[in-house]
Amino acid sequence: MSDYKTYLCEDNLIGGVWTGADDGARIAVTNPATGDVIGHIPKCGRVETDRAIAAAAKAFDSFGRSDLSQRVKLLQDLHDALMDNQEALAQLLTAEQGKPLFESRGEIAIGAAYIRWFAEEIRRAKGEIVPAPGSDRRLFVTRHPVGVVAAITPWNFPSSMLARKLGPALAAGCTVVAKPATNTPYSGLAWGKLAEEVGYPAGVLNIVTGGARDIGGAIMDSPLVRKVTFTGSTEVGRTLIRQSADTVKKVSMELGGNAPFIVFDDADIDAAIEGAMIAKYRNMGQTCVCTNRFYVQAGVHDAFVEKLRAATADLKVGEGIEPGTMQGPLIDDAAVAKVEDLIADAVGKGGQVVEGGGRHALGGTYFQPTVITGATADMAFATEEIFGPLSAVFKFETEEEAISAANATEFGLAAYAYTKDLARIFRLNEGLQYGLIGINAGLITTVEAPFGGLKQSGMGKEGGTQGLDDYLESKYMCVAGL
Ligand code: NAP
Repeated sequence: MSDYKTYLCEDNLIGGVWTGADDGARIAVTNPATGDVIGHIPKCGRVETDRAIAAAAKAFDSFGRSDLSQRVKLLQDLHDALMDNQEALAQLLTAEQGKPLFESRGEIAIGAAYIRWFAEEIRRAKGEIVPAPGSDRRLFVTRHPVGVVAAITPWNFPSSMLARKLGPALAAGCTVVAKPATNTPYSGLAWGKLAEEVGYPAGVLNIVTGGARDIGGAIMDSPLVRKVTFTGSTEVGRTLIRQSADTVKKVSMELGGNAPFIVFDDADIDAAIEGAMIAKYRNMGQTCVCTNRFYVQAGVHDAFVEKLRAATADLKVGEGIEPGTMQGPLIDDAAVAKVEDLIADAVGKGGQVVEGGGRHALGGTYFQPTVITGATADMAFATEEIFGPLSAVFKFETEEEAISAANATEFGLAAYAYTKDLARIFRLNEGLQYGLIGINAGLITTVEAPFGGLKQSGMGKEGGTQGLDDYLESKYMCVAGL
């Protein structure tokens, strides 16, 4: 079995060559659980990114026209390479990101599943023959790879967020310039090593690390990059959308969330607690689909709060690699400071901390899983993404009130509700302004379904049959004079 150091790549991959920044500059990467330096990655900028884009453009000339069977086989091999090295890749992920090892294993597995899914889906990416208005004509719609794709990814799912972009891009015949997050670059760079091992041609996948603005600037300015796929904050997403205008790039955006989790009086409370724990505390609350706001109907409010408090108190906090750990450290000091500020704001406005409430005795960026009751709409977490292990519980009386409060945000990514009322389930489907809706389930992401937000949570879908669409252009061809 390979050790995680096998996949700790200290260089960038540009045009099939592993290389540092031209000036040799590097950035230290630390393990959030210990503060230890894991390694040093290249601090690349515009020049190196332009080189990566040129390499991707050159590789596209042949890869864009490669045999479908070859692309399918490469993806199948990439899937197998991931799963053959699942343990080493999971350890690498936990070392740089902090999440418990069981979650990292799951992330590698779902990333591999996305790769396999797109190996299957591309074989069904059909065009159309359209009935022509006259008998002397035939009308065809054919599908083609968009070209060079830039993929910019966040630190919270450093492996699987790239999988959801690489899968459809490489399936379609696009070539890629990827920029992983600076906090967690190694899981991204590992994709380069895996792609090389299974035989992707040089330049098909390029990976650059370093200054976000410089790398992002080169990507956004380049007319060679035809599509940008971004997962990250709404703030950076807005900037990239603006910057995409000058070269009229296609963009797909997976941005921030502010998920409501609504528990009705008729819910199975134990099932709701089980769903709540995964929807709130997965990755220490640092996922875009994590519950931000619990809305609990008055009749079950106290019972739900007590069970949530007890389950939260039971979460074992520790280093991600220790067996039994359920909550690792937060990613950095800024993440801890944000949760502290949100708690102070809520307490100042009358919220009650019934569990946790502060930094954990383990020190560093460990934080106590926390529950606050008496939440109100004027508290900052009603509208801001928490991104930490803090459950904020609001009480409500009527279904209309809950739906209206749930929608009172600029975000529209994930929403959850627990109820046994079938008619209400369909009212929720129509009323909730969210791209992902979990009814009686706290974890709904799966490769077969389209993942993506409404409103300012983004545009475009990843996964599902829709997940390929953004990577393919359609061309209409009319053959006349027949
Ligand atoms: P972020 O600060 O927006 O960063 C995301 C990526 O963008 C990183 O690689 C970052 O590089 C890069 N970046 C930052 N500024 C840039 C610029 N001006 N130009 C080009 N690239 C730039 O987000 P994050 O803190 O890593 O991730 C957390 C956010 O991601 C949350 O809001 C979360 O909800 C969202 N998210 C959404 C989804 C979804 O599917 N909707 C999934 C996961 C996460 P550096 O690391 O070098 O700064």
